[in-house]
Amino acid sequence: MLCVKTLLFLFLLHVQPAKTSPIPSENSEEKNAKIAQNYLEKFFYLQREDFRSPDWNSTRMFVEKLKEMQHFFGLTVTGEPNAETLEIMKKPRCGVPDIGNYMMTPGNPKWKNTDLTYRIRNYTPQLFQADVETAIEKAFQTWSAASPLTFTRTTEGEADINIAFVQRDHGDNSPFDGPNGILAHAFQPGQGIGGDAHFDAEETWTISSKGYNLFLVAAHEFGHSLGLSHSSDPGALMYPNYAFREPSTYSLPQDDINGIQAIYGPSNNPIQPTGPSTPTACDPRLTFDAATTLRGEIFFFKDKYFWRRHPQLQQVELNFISLFWPSLPNGIQAAYEDSEKDLVFIFKGNQYWVMNGYDIQQGYPRDISNFGFPSTVQAIDAAVFYKGKTYFFINNQFWRYDNRRQSMDPGYPKCLWSAFPGIRSKVDAVFQENNFFLFFSGPKYYAFDLTAQRVTRNGKSNLWLNCRYR
Ligand SMILES: [Zn+2]
Ligand SMILES: [Zn+2]
Repeated sequence: MLCVKTLLFLFLLHVQPAKTSPIPSENSEEKNAKIAQNYLEKFFYLQREDFRSPDWNSTRMFVEKLKEMQHFFGLTVTGEPNAETLEIMKKPRCGVPDIGNYMMTPGNPKWKNTDLTYRIRNYTPQLFQADVETAIEKAFQTWSAASPLTFTRTTEGEADINIAFVQRDHGDNSPFDGPNGILAHAFQPGQGIGGDAHFDAEETWTISSKGYNLFLVAAHEFGHSLGLSHSSDPGALMYPNYAFREPSTYSLPQDDINGIQAIYGPSNNPIQPTGPSTPTACDPRLTFDAATTLRGEIFFFKDKYFWRRHPQLQQVELNFISLFWPSLPNGIQAAYEDSEKDLVFIFKGNQYWVMNGYDIQQGYPRDISNFGFPSTVQAIDAAVFYKGKTYFFINNQFWRYDNRRQSMDPGYPKCLWSAFPGIRSKVDAVFQENNFFLFFSGPKYYAFDLTAQRVTRNGKSNLWLNCRYR
């Protein structure tokens, strides 16, 4: 049995994004309860069912732990293993228990010295040795830049952090499982095996977006080696799920900076580093970059993220744009769905991309002058499709494109307020639903009734992300 103090942190695979939102089929209640029970035992310290504990007690504990889990993932806290909860539970993930925001490992283990040493014990034949060394060095730099810690590589003798590529049973009671599944694990700070990081030698290790990027996995594991546990911030390096991010421009997210500094104090650099913060759905100042429908769901884009809202389940999930569409840029400015052709158009600057569902079509990006914009138009604020026409919003004007004739309608651009009274300022995002255009401008949305030709309701933008204000 594993003792909590030496509990291994297993970094499980999360490579294939859930590209559709599968509605769980009718599993028997018993099967669902078992899935939930197993999950909570592994990740939320739910005690295994014990013959000595009376039934009502274990049921109560189960409900409490389930609520804790729902809270961690930002789900509606019901204490029931409902479809939304089971969907999250079925996602492959890292094996370390989840506790809160950036978290220190239970017992707060930390290194006493700040000058740490590491040793690469062996290499993977899949990469040049120099590439392994660079990835590992860069992973350590990610943490040293944000803390007083330094990392020096040694090639002989004892090191604080030993790095090895190993497979299957390798003598620490936590065997690897071959390709995929568990990718790596690391031990919390301490003597001997403490701090060591093991990488599954049977994975496809890369320095690119293919397979598993060694730098990204190593940087996550070294967080555990330094005493950090998982974060519930989906943008954090220490979030349980793996997501590819561009290593060359990677900067440690603010949540992880806060985490490492809570353990070791600020960086010795007079200018403290800052990192990207994940947008918070319920920030009352939240604005969107773009919005579109996609096959019945609504996508709200913000920086390098998007929220995806499922209309029936009313559930909202935050994801990286790069996880779904690796070749799309961050900071998308406009998007619309041509529901007749099942295509989604994405705009940034004077470029656009066309996607069929999750597949980006060949030959993109192209220039927006293809729509007939003059060269003075270099970016689009928002776009929406309705009855064969695409409406493009730019500052306080809009253009209308006829998709059948493939040209701009004459007489455009027109003034925004002439056709959409009630929409007074620049549109950040817009999508169409039923007989409405849903306009987003600053932190507010306006539902424009296309029959009545007026705004019939408005409110905070993030009501669409299930945020309610009292
Ligand atoms: Zn982990
Ligand atoms: Zn191991």
